[in-house]
Amino acid sequence: MAAVAQAHERECPVCTNDFTTPKILPCGHLLCRQCIISWMDSKSDAGCPLCTCPIVEQQGNSSPIAVDVVDALPTDSVMEAIVENAPVLMSDGMCTACDDLKAEYVCVHCLEKMCPSCMKIHKKMIATRSHDVESVSTVTPERLAASRPALCAEHVTEKAELFCVDHNLAICTSCFSNKHRACLDIKSLDEKMKSAEDALNSLREKLLEAGDNLKQEIVNLNVRVQTADVTEQQNMALVDKTCDQLQKMVDECRKQVKKLISDSVSKFKKSLCDFKIELEKRLGKVTSHKHLVTRATTVRPRPALIHAAQTLTDRVNSLDLSDDLEAEPWVNPSPEITKCCDDVVTDISDELIGLKGLLIVDEVRNLLNLAYVQHDVFF
Ligand SMILES: [Zn+2]
Ligand SMILES: [Zn+2]
Ligand SMILES: [Zn+2]
Ligand SMILES: [Zn+2]
Ligand SMILES: [Zn+2]
Ligand SMILES: [Zn+2]
Repeated sequence: MAAVAQAHERECPVCTNDFTTPKILPCGHLLCRQCIISWMDSKSDAGCPLCTCPIVEQQGNSSPIAVDVVDALPTDSVMEAIVENAPVLMSDGMCTACDDLKAEYVCVHCLEKMCPSCMKIHKKMIATRSHDVESVSTVTPERLAASRPALCAEHVTEKAELFCVDHNLAICTSCFSNKHRACLDIKSLDEKMKSAEDALNSLREKLLEAGDNLKQEIVNLNVRVQTADVTEQQNMALVDKTCDQLQKMVDECRKQVKKLISDSVSKFKKSLCDFKIELEKRLGKVTSHKHLVTRATTVRPRPALIHAAQTLTDRVNSLDLSDDLEAEPWVNPSPEITKCCDDVVTDISDELIGLKGLLIVDEVRNLLNLAYVQHDVFF
């Protein structure tokens, strides 16, 4: 459960050294105090170098003074403690007392590194026998930071037993009787540690819950994005289907109107044709009788000419020589065409109104309404 900081987590991303006075940016990233000052001096509107979040909210026109901004940021005192203890484990690894032997142990109390024999001595000496000694291979900077005794802030040789809330300092009993006698709020360090731990635990609970809620909300948003995509596809398909339908109606109407026109013209043409055939028949009869009459007047046989004149006159008089046959008039189909076109326009309008009603399921409609409301607010 305890989170052990990897070596790179102790490293400032700007100077790449272990943190010096790590400051907590509004985004939660850490940078050395001095690194933020240089970073802000190099670029007045510089954001966090890791995530570009603003280091300071823009306040009016005055550009903020870097030192003031940075000193107002909280210091990560836990990281400070870890960094403070890390060098003990990083340096050459030799026993502090006999520097030709490898250190295998470290005293988490006084940070002395020891070979096995020095460790035995450390455990025997009255002054140090109560110290906790651990193997260098397993101890971490976090373990060292956690095991170091709290030292009095006033004189670091003494163990701090108390916490002066007025001065916000851990102090020893003698400092309490001397320098902090007048202070009103003095607590036992353990009690103060316990309440700080409780506060941090409830913070962790709060952050866990907020994290879960945010994750859930992001999942919900993803679902809504997917729903919007599906809705888009469905609506597109519906539009395609309706437009195909409309196209079919238009095609059908075109076919019908063309048939009306061609039927009407065919009927008229047939009537003209019949008329022409009849006139041609009459012309045939006229031609053959004209031939008979011409031959009679050219040959003039007696008395056949007299008979011929008699019979041909009767015949020609009985022939219909008129050229004024009435062809059937052309019937313009325009009223039917108009009706057909009007019908298809009505059908198309109905289809389009139906389409509008079917389009956009709730999710997209809500989004559109939301956009509309926002639009309304701003304009
Ligand atoms: Zn740095
Ligand atoms: Zn950041
Ligand atoms: Zn020790
Ligand atoms: Zn030694
Ligand atoms: Zn003291
Ligand atoms: Zn005090």
